[in-house]
Amino acid sequence: MNDPKRKTYWLETYGCQMNKAESGYLEYELQSHGWVPVQTPEEAQTVILNTCSVRKTAEDRIWGRLGFFKAQKKNHTFRLVLMGCMSERLKEEILNEAPHVDLLVGNFQKHRLVDVLDHEDAFSEVAAEAGGRADPQLAHQEAHLIDPGEYRFAERHSLSGFQAFLPIMHGCNNFCTYCIVPYVRGSEVSRSPESILAEILRLQVPEGSAGQGIREITLLGQNVNSYLYRAQGGGTLTFPALLRRIVPVLQDRTWLRFLTSHPKDMSDELIELIAAEPALCRHIHLPVQHGSNRILQAMGRKYTREHYLDLVERIRKTIPEVSLTTDILIGFPGEGEEDYRLTLELMQQVQFEDAFTYRYNPREGTRAFELKDDVPESLKQERLSEVIDLQRRITREVKKGKLGRVVEVLIEGVSKKNAEELLARTEGDEMVVFPGSPKRIGTFGRVRLQSLRGSTFRAEIIEAGDF
Ligand code: SAM
Ligand code: SF4
Repeated sequence: MNDPKRKTYWLETYGCQMNKAESGYLEYELQSHGWVPVQTPEEAQTVILNTCSVRKTAEDRIWGRLGFFKAQKKNHTFRLVLMGCMSERLKEEILNEAPHVDLLVGNFQKHRLVDVLDHEDAFSEVAAEAGGRADPQLAHQEAHLIDPGEYRFAERHSLSGFQAFLPIMHGCNNFCTYCIVPYVRGSEVSRSPESILAEILRLQVPEGSAGQGIREITLLGQNVNSYLYRAQGGGTLTFPALLRRIVPVLQDRTWLRFLTSHPKDMSDELIELIAAEPALCRHIHLPVQHGSNRILQAMGRKYTREHYLDLVERIRKTIPEVSLTTDILIGFPGEGEEDYRLTLELMQQVQFEDAFTYRYNPREGTRAFELKDDVPESLKQERLSEVIDLQRRITREVKKGKLGRVVEVLIEGVSKKNAEELLARTEGDEMVVFPGSPKRIGTFGRVRLQSLRGSTFRAEIIEAGDF
């Protein structure tokens, strides 16, 4: 009782927005059960790492943190919890090589974590369930929190704030040959519309606070276009149908975004809905991954370069002001000079507003892991640098073409570079800075785009406040 560290936690989140949303849920649960966040890991009774396995670099970083916390354990007492994709993928390895991890939590048992942390009773009960193993700690880890089982969506994923990530699906059925996600997150499950709508309503009326409510919601799924909810009494709900149910419940001005769209599943119905519905941001993140049909096929993406380009044309024709961003994966096995050139050409042709660029690394368990990783690291790096440079130039050119426009922005915070300036984002997910008071954070404004600083717009405010 007198331990000042009692029920204090430190949470580190790695990887994608889904992980951020799931950490949001965890924080909500912890704080509702009396847990308090602390400023440094040294002050915490429980340290939680929410991990990522998509790339080796992410895992290496987390192994580094595990080393750090191992050393910390010599100085003081705390409980170390590892959750998320890496716990799922490397269960055996972590149990063997990192015995200082007190609790391993896979992707299907996260909802039980707070209960287990909270109740010492639950700890021993779990150990008992494991069949009276000699080492209750190990029995506990193995018995419980790594079991697959049915996925359960949390009911809420954020504590407060005017922006929220909201998972509508979990898992993925696509099995792109390079990707670990379907193995660590399992098959696609769509969340019920009732649960999604209930979370949105809760976000609009922040509990016990005079907060300004929600201004931006990002719906999350590995492939939101394949969202398909099957109601118990029969009947199905598609992604566009879900959006049509969400829009009318949005109070005041709220931006609605979604991530990620798979090019093979993006329908005309969805494109037309984005064009027609003002609440839907005119921004589509549409990962192309590569520009060569040969490589796209080997990646198992199930579309061709021609399909992608045709899709882009249809999108741009229907939604003229749309901003398109993408993911590009360089150095996949067998990628020759010609394949690589085709990727640069596609980038030139499409003129993406922005791109996340990655260098392929083999993930054990995926189909591509069986292929020879035959593009030398130095060549992968060289190609990736060229891709990054090209995208930087394209981004600047595209943005230069927008100078002089008056656009709506959501003010997110204070600029890191200048405390007198505010940082905001456009519907197209572009960053804008302009002078203004922090009182405006969390509101919409209208600004004129005046110049570029790197790839950030500098602007002047035309109209402040929500409208
Ligand atoms: N579901 C999204 C889609 O289909 O585009 C992407 C999710 S994935 C977690 C995010 C990005 O990580 C992918 O678009 C891909 O470019 C990259 N990625 C996935 N596996 C990778 C690997 N083995 N090596 C490097 N990058 C990888
Ligand atoms: Fe991975 Fe492909 Fe699924 Fe995206 S669609 S999560 S890249 S398997």
